[in-house]
Amino acid sequence: MTLRVRLGLLSVSLVMGTLGAAAFAVYVSEGAHLVREAERGRSALLASFAQSCRDAILVQDEMAAVNAAVAVAKVSGVRGAYCLDKNNRVIAHSDGIRGKLSEGSKEAVPNRGSRGERLSRLTRSVEGVAGAKATIVFSEDVLAAGIRESLQGLMKRLSLVLSGALILGIMGSIVLAQSLARPILRILKGTQALAEGRLDHRIQMRRRDELGQLAEGFDAMAVKLGEVDKMKDDFVSNVTHELRSPLGAIESYANMIAEDARAGNLAEVMESVNVVRNNTTRLSRFINNILDLAKIETRTDGLRRERVRGLTLVQETQSFFAAKAREKGIWLEAQGDPRLELWVDPDKLQQVLTNLVSNAFKFTPEGGRITLSAVQEGDRVLLKVEDTGPGIAPKDVGRIFNRFEQVRERVEQLEGPKGTGLGLAIAKGLVEAHGGKIDVHSEIGRGSVFCVSLPVNNEGLCKSS
Ligand code: ADP
Repeated sequence: MTLRVRLGLLSVSLVMGTLGAAAFAVYVSEGAHLVREAERGRSALLASFAQSCRDAILVQDEMAAVNAAVAVAKVSGVRGAYCLDKNNRVIAHSDGIRGKLSEGSKEAVPNRGSRGERLSRLTRSVEGVAGAKATIVFSEDVLAAGIRESLQGLMKRLSLVLSGALILGIMGSIVLAQSLARPILRILKGTQALAEGRLDHRIQMRRRDELGQLAEGFDAMAVKLGEVDKMKDDFVSNVTHELRSPLGAIESYANMIAEDARAGNLAEVMESVNVVRNNTTRLSRFINNILDLAKIETRTDGLRRERVRGLTLVQETQSFFAAKAREKGIWLEAQGDPRLELWVDPDKLQQVLTNLVSNAFKFTPEGGRITLSAVQEGDRVLLKVEDTGPGIAPKDVGRIFNRFEQVRERVEQLEGPKGTGLGLAIAKGLVEAHGGKIDVHSEIGRGSVFCVSLPVNNEGLCKSS
């Protein structure tokens, strides 16, 4: 059974159930109302008859009492009306005079009607005449028949209204079922499109309800999936490039080594061996990067913390890159407060700084400046890598710390290796493992400052982090 049919059936049965319940409630309450009205009418009739009895007794006019009783007996459902004295003797009744007011008939007021008709009596005292009573005998069967007739009339009217409401309800239910099923089917088609790999498919449904939010969420998910797919493609092509270029270099230099060795050119052989060594280092660094990231992500990376000076960390990084700075014509300096101490794993922090400084070298043009510093701000030590490169646009700042994220236009301008978008993700993972934070302040055209913020050498603080 399709969703549309199911929704249709559900809403039709809801409509029918609701209308049925409403009709039943109207029927029951109307029945009770009719009974109450009849009782009220009877009481009013009895009150006015008691008044007539009183007037007749006070002026000793028995004819007036009889006339009043006869008039009451003409009311539908009344089987008799009686004025009684304090001894329960009938003074006057609707069938005629039964004696004088002073010596009334002892005839009992009837309890049963003719042919088993059910009767009921209502009696009340006649005010101002001690012991005198007025009684009216009603036929219950006439009352019940009256109520039944009114209810039948009501049922007829109700059935007419209900049939109209039911037809409208069914039509409304069908429209409702359609309008609920249509967006769900659209979302279903969207999921099928995604499952078939059409990641550019969008539902684009403008609704303010939960279905609209679901469609919006679905579209956002499709956009994200598209981005992840694109990231994967970029990553594969960058990884291929990162693997292929050193491997190509190793292969061709190995051939050259073979030729030079045959010709006995030892100097050239040594030069080529150096190139091969550099390329194998580059390859193993790249593979280590990927392994590091996997380790950080699976949290199997234990830190070997020791007390280290912040200045030592930045100075060691500076000496590691000193030759490269000379080669690229970039001013590289390290500065800071020699008293600053950290409780960190020096190798891991060195790796963080190396990743940041490699990026700075990659993007800073010749003649530029890269500054490393270790300073204290409150209860934090800041390790900063500042460059005079092209800077990073605010829209990219938030994402470059994610795995495989690169600023495409920036990377495309690079001449050498394009990178893989892992360096900052690894740096972030390592800094966070130390209980620190990493962020960047950058301005297009002026350069970037990458800032690693760590707790100072308060051992309690550091060890608990
Ligand atoms: P990779 O350098 O391998 O591409 P990273 O995660 O180290 O990966 O860097 C991500 C991206 O952040 C880089 O591709 C680059 O676009 C941008 N980026 C990082 N450092 C700098 C910097 N100092 N100046 C300008 N852009 C930078």
